Amino acid sequence: MVAVQVWLGLGSNLGDRRGHLTGALTALAAVPGVQVLRVSSFHESELLGEGPPQGPFLNGVAELRTTLGPQALLGVLQALEAQAGRVRPAPRNHPRPLDLDLLTYGDLRCDTRELVLPHPRWHERPFVTGPLRELGVALEALPQRPGVAVVGDPQAFAAQCTEWLAGGCVVGLVPTMGALHDGHRSLMEIAARECDRVAATIFVNPLQFGPNEDFAAYPRTLERDLEVCRAAGVHAVFTPTPEQMYEPGFCSQVQVGAEAQGMEGALRPDHFRGVATVVARLFALARPQRAYFGEKDAQQVAVVRRMTRDLGFPVQIVPCPIVREADGLARSSRNVYLSAEDRAAATVLVRALRSARQQFLRGACDRDALLQRVRAVVATEPRAQLDYVELRREGDLAELPPGPVDGGRLLIAAKFAGGLRPVRLLDNLSLRPGPDEA
Ligand code: AMP
Repeated sequence: MVAVQVWLGLGSNLGDRRGHLTGALTALAAVPGVQVLRVSSFHESELLGEGPPQGPFLNGVAELRTTLGPQALLGVLQALEAQAGRVRPAPRNHPRPLDLDLLTYGDLRCDTRELVLPHPRWHERPFVTGPLRELGVALEALPQRPGVAVVGDPQAFAAQCTEWLAGGCVVGLVPTMGALHDGHRSLMEIAARECDRVAATIFVNPLQFGPNEDFAAYPRTLERDLEVCRAAGVHAVFTPTPEQMYEPGFCSQVQVGAEAQGMEGALRPDHFRGVATVVARLFALARPQRAYFGEKDAQQVAVVRRMTRDLGFPVQIVPCPIVREADGLARSSRNVYLSAEDRAAATVLVRALRSARQQFLRGACDRDALLQRVRAVVATEPRAQLDYVELRREGDLAELPPGPVDGGRLLIAAKFAGGLRPVRLLDNLSLRPGPDEA
């Protein structure tokens, strides 16, 4: 086999740091098929990122030549880390006696759960770039991973996800329509914590807009959105055009049932059929193990859950808590279209829901009395035109009969028409507050 040039990052911040680094290099040089060509001097650096209190690292880089394949070399490095006393799995950013990172392996690109080449962040790490420069390496000449992959072509997106799945990764999907805000960001951050790879989608889906709705006027802010995705730890963003998403002749849609009836389903007749269709199409392309949706659109979560179960997609639907502004207004891409007066008035929705919940927590449990409480608070704000308020069962949002309830979710929608165009806002609240709800 042809020998390949490899750059290795070395680090230690536990025990005899210099001893661990030099011991590993000596052991490496003795491995058949591995030559250690050059080693930088070692430098101290503090932990980058968050972690428990710990001493500084001693870091350096080494140039190797090897006839071992990348997996075999990784196996050798992990064995040396274990010999030095490193325990796996360990919590992120905990102190460690030895860290041996494959930075580059020739020009090879690979993206599996175990191994990403080139190392995704080598060029951002001064404790790597400094020692490389010291050895006279032209950093621009070394292979770098491109940042977030931005893909418009459905087949290219599917191929990217297939590569991850084949590499043993858990893939998380975060479908959005863009104009990203902190609510979307929280979905992506939760996905990044729970999955090996996160694919976000930005697609204003024409199928879920009615003829007189705001499809054309829906805010589109792609460049800013990509920044949000990057900062949230997303690995690929799928940004198809409607023509790419739905090829000419596309005519199959997912018919939805009980969960889509009433509330949004009553006001927007084909909305959930369009939502279920695009989500099914995304599931078929990405084949994620987990998919993240905001509880802000609680009826959408119920519809998607049902569709996923009925059609048998092997994906876990993960509902994520509503992210709110400091004054309680649920974050929404449409908030930017509220006039200043409507923006101030819009907090009436969450105030009304919280007021009814407070009554419930104090012992009031009659369904209609709780709904009446919401209506009474909304009525104090003349700028709000109430579309509906309902109290539904948690989860599937089935209707609750009149009379006493022992829980449930209040859902509300209202229009604010004082700006350039009318804006419909949705909100909802569980009668029983969760641990992360104010
Ligand atoms: P959208 O771009 O409006 O289709 O939203 C994309 C995803 O983000 C959906 O799952 C929404 O429920 C979720 N989302 C929107 N706003 C919020 C919010 N304020 N908090 C949490 N999730 C949200």
